[in-house]
Amino acid sequence: MAYEDRNSLPLGDAFVSSGSFSRYNRSSKKTPCPVCSRTKSNSCSWNNDVIYCHQGSTNSPPQHLRIGDCLEIDGKKWALVSKNAGFTGSAYCFRPDRGKVKNIPRGISKRHKKEVVLLVKELFALVELSLAVMEFMTDSPEVLKRSLYLIDSAFSQCKEARQTLKEMVPHDKKLKPLLMLVEDALKQVGCQKQDADYFRKHYLGERDGEL
Ligand SMILES: [Zn+2]
Repeated sequence: MAYEDRNSLPLGDAFVSSGSFSRYNRSSKKTPCPVCSRTKSNSCSWNNDVIYCHQGSTNSPPQHLRIGDCLEIDGKKWALVSKNAGFTGSAYCFRPDRGKVKNIPRGISKRHKKEVVLLVKELFALVELSLAVMEFMTDSPEVLKRSLYLIDSAFSQCKEARQTLKEMVPHDKKLKPLLMLVEDALKQVGCQKQDADYFRKHYLGERDGEL
């Protein structure tokens, strides 16, 4: 296939049609790196099976990525497997994500854990506030609106926190008690949300999801 033609195809098709697994595409004006969009130099290279994305001064792969994290490129998932790959040891290496548990045991960074624990603590304060809402009927419209908002956000944030912790617990068992607290909070806020939704439907005439 002509070089120019290949360039005009989305990456997925380029991979399929390039055929050879060993042949590398290189970043250029016409073929930007699929990860960092580099066009100025040919430092990034990739084929069907691997992407080497160079950490340079003009372009570099997303710095928040950790080993095992995935990027979606044209509908295909690529997992970061190394941060010091390539000949120079300065490339991020991505492999197609096989959907199995990470190849490389992935610990949780202390910073990430601290962040999550802090967020969950703040969330518990929100949960308490939302559980303190006792009576919808007697509230003024402003207070009522705020109460319903509190309950909704506590509920959705609890769900998010539960998901995050569920993913973290296999890597760090110490987070399990926190997960259980969040699940408990979610149950309580869930009841509160049911009441709020009932009130909305029957007294405010709202349909689901409105306000
Ligand atoms: Zn790149």
